[in-house]
Amino acid sequence: MKASVCYKQNDLRTEDLPIPDISDNEVLIKMLACGLCGTDIQKIRGDSVNKPTVLGHEVVGEIVKKGQNVDRFELGDRVITAIHVPCFTCHYCNKGHYTICEQFRTNNIDPGGFAQFIRIPELHLKHLTHKVSDSVTDEEATLIEPIACCLHGLKQADIRPNDSVLIMGAGTIGILHAQLAKIKGANKVIISDMSEFKLQTALKVGCDYAINIAEKNIFEEVNKITHGQGVDVIVIAAGVSSLVSDAINLVRRAGKIIVFSGFDKNKMVNIDASRFFKDEISIIGTYSVTPYEFPEALDLLEKKKLNTQEMITHVFPLDKLSEAIDLSTDPKQSVLKVVIKTEL
Ligand SMILES: [Zn+2]
Ligand SMILES: [Zn+2]
Repeated sequence: MKASVCYKQNDLRTEDLPIPDISDNEVLIKMLACGLCGTDIQKIRGDSVNKPTVLGHEVVGEIVKKGQNVDRFELGDRVITAIHVPCFTCHYCNKGHYTICEQFRTNNIDPGGFAQFIRIPELHLKHLTHKVSDSVTDEEATLIEPIACCLHGLKQADIRPNDSVLIMGAGTIGILHAQLAKIKGANKVIISDMSEFKLQTALKVGCDYAINIAEKNIFEEVNKITHGQGVDVIVIAAGVSSLVSDAINLVRRAGKIIVFSGFDKNKMVNIDASRFFKDEISIIGTYSVTPYEFPEALDLLEKKKLNTQEMITHVFPLDKLSEAIDLSTDPKQSVLKVVIKTEL
């Protein structure tokens, strides 16, 4: 079978790997589509994961083989799955922080999403695998994992009616957050970015205000929109650590800042620390997704609550993964979500 193997930084090769064997409690899926995530690009271009490896985790596939003990799924079912299962019993799981569980990052699908066939292990099948209804296309289904990640972070935001929300960064994740904030009842949703294409897309899918920070001063704009009050909730959806200090100056009293993006290690930022005591603001970090967010994400797509058409801008075949990455990291391109398929 074909798989895109990452050997070292920026070295991706389409290779012929053996189709994984499955046990009695597992299934084999044929990959139908797999979204390209910013974290895949970071892992391919950086040194955070051991290589060689096969990346890809926003995957939808068709069950082509199943173990004799599997009764929840049938051959031919179209399913989505994800890559990490928590243990549900450790110190962190007991506190509800399933994504930082010691077990979480140690288990994975085999070999990864960017492969023609994928083995779904027993725990992944039990906790993370869901059948997708025919009303959701393969391309849309790749968004279930990122939507679930956004829902995971937004749980902490506790958005109330009349809240104003600012999303910093209008990539796929930022625009999904904006749409979800609206669904959760936010009154004004503002988004900021430097890409006019991304901002225009955000407006098309329901954002109320878009601020191009290459042209406008975000503090002045947010002040105008919120009549000097600041925003109730801020989601940082761009990997720029200085956004944390901006966010502290933009958040309303009692406001919450959700840090969704990862930053490089040891990035120090200056903040106005007086605001914690005086204004009861909070900063909350969020990472990945737990098994509990997938049903809601799936339901939102099945009920057509989200506009995904505008967001999936490109589809590439598996053997053109490098080209897909070049395109999606080129700031001059009009690109949001890139989806990989085994063949076009
Ligand atoms: Zn992802
Ligand atoms: Zn645990």
